Amino acid sequence: MILVFCELKDGKLRKPSAEALSEGRRLADASGQQLGALTVGASADGAADAAKYGADSILTCVAPSLASYSSDAFAAAIASAAKAKGATIVLGAATAMGKDALPRAAARLDAGYAGDVTGLSMEGGKLQAQRPVYAGKAFATTGFTSAVQVATTRPNVFAATEKTGPGAMESVEAPAGDFKAIVKEILAKGGGKVDLTEANVIVAGGRGLKSGENFKILEELADALGGVVGASRAAVDAGWGLSHGIQVGQTGKVVSPTLYIAAGISGAIQHLAGMSSSKYIVAINKDPDAPIFKIADYGIVGDLFEVVPELTKAAKAMGIGAHH
Ligand SMILES: Cc1cc2nc3c(=O)[nH]c(=O)nc-3n(C[C@H](O)[C@H](O)[C@H](O)COP(=O)(O)OP(=O)(O)OC[C@H]3O[C@@H](n4cnc5c(N)ncnc54)[C@H](O)[C@@H]3O)c2cc1C
Repeated sequence: MILVFCELKDGKLRKPSAEALSEGRRLADASGQQLGALTVGASADGAADAAKYGADSILTCVAPSLASYSSDAFAAAIASAAKAKGATIVLGAATAMGKDALPRAAARLDAGYAGDVTGLSMEGGKLQAQRPVYAGKAFATTGFTSAVQVATTRPNVFAATEKTGPGAMESVEAPAGDFKAIVKEILAKGGGKVDLTEANVIVAGGRGLKSGENFKILEELADALGGVVGASRAAVDAGWGLSHGIQVGQTGKVVSPTLYIAAGISGAIQHLAGMSSSKYIVAINKDPDAPIFKIADYGIVGDLFEVVPELTKAAKAMGIGAHH
C-alpha cells in the first residue's frame, strides 16, 4: 500500500494533502498498489474528501488527545498505521506539519526519507524522488535502499486531480504512550488570508519598497489578483514592521505559486532558493542588470512605484481577482 498522511483543517482536506494524494494515486496505478489516506485528529470531519482524490481506503485515527498537532503523537500514529497496513511508501505534503511529522515517522519505520520533493517516479519497484539541492541551483534524483520509503511533496508543484476512489472508511487505533510534549492550544494569528506556501499568486517586495507603508501598494495588487504578499529577507530585516512569516527564501518560506511577482527584489541566490520553482515569475526592477531578470519569465525594467499601481489598475479592470 501507498499511504498518504492527509491534513484536515476546519473539517476539510488541505490542498497540499490533496496534491500528495493525487500523486499517490498516480504512483499506486503505476505500481499496481492500493492507495490509503490517513487522517489524524480529534475528529475525522473532512476525511471522506480523500475519496475525491482516488483513495481506495481512508484510515482515520481519532482521539481527543490528537486535537492539536504534536510531533511525537502524530509521528507515532503515522508509523503505526503504516506498519499495520504494510505500507512500503508513505507520503505527505511538505507543509510545516508534514516536514515535522514524516521524518519522525520515517525514523520509527527505519525508512529512508526524501523531503520537499518536486517529482516522484517508480523505478524497478522502488520510489525515486527529484529534489532541489544547493538552494535550488540543481536537482538531485534520490533513490531508496530501505524497505519503507517516506517522502514529502512540495506544495503547489503536484496537481490535485479529482478522481473518485472507493474511499472505504476504517478507523485505526490512536497511539498510546507517554509523549514528551503536547500542544495544548494554538493561537491563530489574525489575517485569515491563505498561507504563503499555499497561495496561487504572491506579490513580493524587497528593499526597493523603501518602507513598510509602501507595502500597501503590493497589498492592493495582491488583492486585485486574489493573492498574498511576500517579502525578501532584506525587507523583513529592515525593521519596517513586516512579519517574518512572509519571508521567502532559503531561511524563509519555500513557495511555488502559479504567479510570483518580485518588485524591488534583486534576486540574490538565497531569495531564489525560495521561489524559483514558481510557474510564472514576473520581475519589476529599475536595474536592467538585476539577477532576478535571469530567472524571470517576464521582466519589467522600471520604477515599481509607477509599474505596480498600473498593474493593479489593469488587474481590477479585468476583474482577475474575482476568478480566484
Ligand atoms: C545565510 C543567508 C540566508 C539568507 N536568506 C534569505 C532569504 O531567505 N530570503 C531572502 O530574500 N534573502 C535571504 N538572504 C539575503 C540575500 O542574500 C539578500 O541580501 C536579500 O535577498 C536582498 O534583498 P532585496 O533583493 O530585497 O534587496 P537588495 O539586494 O537591496 O535589492 C533591492 C532591489 O530593488 C531595486 N529597486 C530599488 N528601488 C526600486 C524602484 N523604485 N523600482 C524598482 N526597483 C527598485 C534595486 O535595483 C535592487 O535590485 C540570506 C542571506 C544569507 C547570507
